[in-house]
Amino acid sequence: MSSAPPAPVIDARGVTKSFGTNTVLRGIDLEVHPGQVVCLLGPSGSGKSTFLRCVNHLERIDGGRLLVDGQDVGYELRHGKLYELTERRIARRRAEIGMVFQRFNLFPHRTALENVVEGPVVVRRRSRAQVLERGRELLDRVGLADRASAYPSQLSGGQQQRVAIARALAMEPRLLLFDEPTSALDPELVGEVLDVMRDLARDGMTMLVVTHEVGFAREVADVAAFMADGVIVETGPPRQVLDDPQHERTQSFLARVL
Ligand code: ADP
Ligand code: MG
Repeated sequence: MSSAPPAPVIDARGVTKSFGTNTVLRGIDLEVHPGQVVCLLGPSGSGKSTFLRCVNHLERIDGGRLLVDGQDVGYELRHGKLYELTERRIARRRAEIGMVFQRFNLFPHRTALENVVEGPVVVRRRSRAQVLERGRELLDRVGLADRASAYPSQLSGGQQQRVAIARALAMEPRLLLFDEPTSALDPELVGEVLDVMRDLARDGMTMLVVTHEVGFAREVADVAAFMADGVIVETGPPRQVLDDPQHERTQSFLARVL
């Protein structure tokens, strides 16, 4: 008996999205499979953030099909028909996806540990006592066990971003999305954040990472995808896409960032 391969965590087929007359996504095809790390590269304005926001239910797609864990984003299938999800059910599905932004967006008046446990307490209605231990474990995992009671202003940018990663992990997501997680950091702080991401990848976390860190993509990604003007123009193993790009847009982009 042959068993079907596991369904992709993200399955985008011909996804389109416009803002008014500005067509930002022109037919995105992308699959992210369980345990895979996919790095999405491309020039500013090509639609990378918009695509991540669609995956995370922050934007609605106009056309094509976008499935996360086999379910249409924003819709549910009942008796063979798609129905729009209520806000409540969207919130429930969003809780399965962790997102890490360029700006860390920590609560400034909460400690690192309080920031990490906020999601489980508010969204999952867990008691604080229950989640504190897990929160400490997560801070330990990102190398910040000793900074649990520090406030964001007392932490470096790299430390704050690591708290943001621990906060995303606290929800036990099926999928982690990263939107240029190191772009706002001073160069000397980039490595510590990439190290944490590399550890997560090694542990089998499914990750879609928008980044300009070509070295990270080459080393960690299973698939590199290059996006320009709302389409993925080139995709494949990182060594192929990054070291031997076939498309002119990929070549000129890499020539600029390397
Ligand atoms: P990238 O992340 O690759 O830099 P974005 O997805 O942020 O690209 O943006 C792609 C295009 O979509 C840009 O032209 C941007 O101005 C436009 N855009 C993004 N979000 C919105 C929005 N909420 N409303 C209107 N236009 C938007
Ligand atoms: Mg962006």
